[in-house]
Amino acid sequence: MTDPANSEFDTIIVGAGPAGLCAAMYAGRGMLRALTLESRVPGGELLNTEKIEDYPGFESILGRELAERMASHARKFGAEIRQMTVEGIQRLPDGSFEVRTVEGERFHAPTVILTAGGTPTKLGVPGEVEYAGFGVSYCAVCDGAFFRGQTIAVVGGGDAAVEEADYLTRYAEKVYLIHRRNQLRASRLLQERLFANPKIEVLWNRQVLSIEGREHAGLRDVTGLSLEDTVTGQRSSLPVSGCFVFIGFRPNTGLIQEHFAHDPGGYIVTDDRMMTSIPGLFAAGDLRAQLTRQVTTAVGDATTAAIAVEKFLTERRSKVGV
Ligand code: NAP
Repeated sequence: MTDPANSEFDTIIVGAGPAGLCAAMYAGRGMLRALTLESRVPGGELLNTEKIEDYPGFESILGRELAERMASHARKFGAEIRQMTVEGIQRLPDGSFEVRTVEGERFHAPTVILTAGGTPTKLGVPGEVEYAGFGVSYCAVCDGAFFRGQTIAVVGGGDAAVEEADYLTRYAEKVYLIHRRNQLRASRLLQERLFANPKIEVLWNRQVLSIEGREHAGLRDVTGLSLEDTVTGQRSSLPVSGCFVFIGFRPNTGLIQEHFAHDPGGYIVTDDRMMTSIPGLFAAGDLRAQLTRQVTTAVGDATTAAIAVEKFLTERRSKVGV
């Protein structure tokens, strides 16, 4: 049961990726009573990225190291980060919020900054669920080393797929990049790196029909992919021992228990203060509708959100006299 004296905050930050940690740092500097809730260790997607080379001031830094630095920076300014999984955010009749965790805690605040990021999109093909963790992966940094000297596939054509295909060649002997069109969506710089890497072969206009595998001695292994040419319809088999899927993210917005404005992809629409269509509920980072999703944009969103929260609280106090 939540200690009532320890359950009331000025703001509750849900998620401790770059956006959450930056919001926590600014909230601390703004002397707000803020609580940050995160189900894993702080860092979010930084923990799934080997190297960051586009964060100003750091020509190259390990994702994990940047995560640790951001967390300790936030803590230095008084951030309270608790390892808990949020299961729901409910607006109460007085306009404030109750945040419930699966651990059974209930926290209250007049504002919430939602920075819960996204979940990798699944291919939705036979074999994907069966072989998840047994050759099917959504995280190159976590699983790449299991494929030393092997032939593997990466599915997708965006920044994540192209960057991770390149990263995976430090372990794998050969990486097939499977893309459903004949043009990549990834940035030009990443594409140049991809095409310069002799261990990578791009299979254009191909979609995965199924992930094949076998079971032996109680273990499961991926043995190959069944592919279809998206132009000719021709089918083929590709022998690989691993399949990394990077075909986008689904924003983690399921925690919000009332209607909110969103774009066709489900990303949350905010105003220029990062406030959602629900007054007092702010959103920052990968789950917000915007042109691009970078570490830099996440911390930019979060900076705006935390400062906007301060202003919102001041206005609210002057209205309701609390
Ligand atoms: P993304 O940019 O949305 O790209 C998703 C890719 O997956 C697209 O190429 C798409 O194909 C393909 N795809 C989607 N559904 C598919 C399906 N069912 N079957 C096969 N292919 C499918 O996603 P992302 O690469 O995860 O990147 C997400 C955001 O993070 C982007 O804004 C990106 O810039 C950012 N990011 C940046 C970096 C970096 O700058 N270093 C690294 C990672 C991510 P189509 O092209 O045909 O639609």
